[in-house]
Amino acid sequence: MSTLPGRLVLLGHPVAHSASPRFQNAALRAAGIPLLYEALDVTLEQLDEALDSLALVNGAGNVTIPHKEAVAARCVRLTPLARRCGAVNVFWHENHVLCGDNTDVAGVDVVAKALLQGHTAGARVAVLGAGGAAAAVLCAVERWEGARVRVYNRHMPRARSLAQRFPSTAEAVPTLDDALRDATLVVNATPVGLHDGAYPVDIDRLPAGSAVFDLIYSPTETAWVRDARETGHRAADGEGMLLEQGALAFERWFGRAPDRGAMWRAMH
Ligand code: NAP
Repeated sequence: MSTLPGRLVLLGHPVAHSASPRFQNAALRAAGIPLLYEALDVTLEQLDEALDSLALVNGAGNVTIPHKEAVAARCVRLTPLARRCGAVNVFWHENHVLCGDNTDVAGVDVVAKALLQGHTAGARVAVLGAGGAAAAVLCAVERWEGARVRVYNRHMPRARSLAQRFPSTAEAVPTLDDALRDATLVVNATPVGLHDGAYPVDIDRLPAGSAVFDLIYSPTETAWVRDARETGHRAADGEGMLLEQGALAFERWFGRAPDRGAMWRAMH
């Protein structure tokens, strides 16, 4: 993007507790870019009006729950990855035309590859949940040679319709045990454990040697991640993914990499 966007925002509902303004504003300051990143709490009913007013000023930003699919549907230009995912978490305007991409996929990819210590070929991935974040996981894994995903969701039809979009990589399974069988990576893409110490999978049911990736980001890591690590599993929460998707969004807006160290410090 050659000129600066007129506004830089996070669109979501709710957004008050998001860490994105903190680390994006730290990146803007570090880069000397005279913009403020603002969280905009926008309901679905207000979304069209918000996007129309952002178009007027060539606004840019991120999208979070629950608007990622709705913004993808509104974009005139989508990257192939955003189209594949069916969801947009970063947007900008080119001459007032709405454009969208998905950097959640790369965020998943970076953290998952580190957890698997590079052994992504032939990985067996259990994904719990079948919403937008699960779709980002499937988009990442379908690029890994010979890797397979089993998707388990409390409502099977949603798991089935997600898996059907990735037929060469994914299958929906009816039980958690089916999903966990032989898994080398277990991913929580549900909010279970966000507000309490609940486990999406009991620690003693995790396959031996499997890595654990909880997409939940909270100021302190989830009990599941902490306890899985204490029993010898490699484990990560959603912080690394959040930071990476934000750093790559910054690159889409400004055409240069942000200071990831400044972003990381702002999160802590
Ligand atoms: P979503 O589209 O609303 O999907 C949520 C999924 O979780 C659905 O499959 C839903 O099942 C399931 N679920 C919800 N409550 C559940 C419960 N009590 N027990 C079992 N399953 C439950 O949400 P999303 O965007 O995919 O986000 C999922 C998680 O990933 C959230 O915790 C979010 O914060 C996190 N996330 C993190 C990042 C990051 O950068 N770290 C980015 C995106 C998302 P049903 O279909 O049966 O309702």
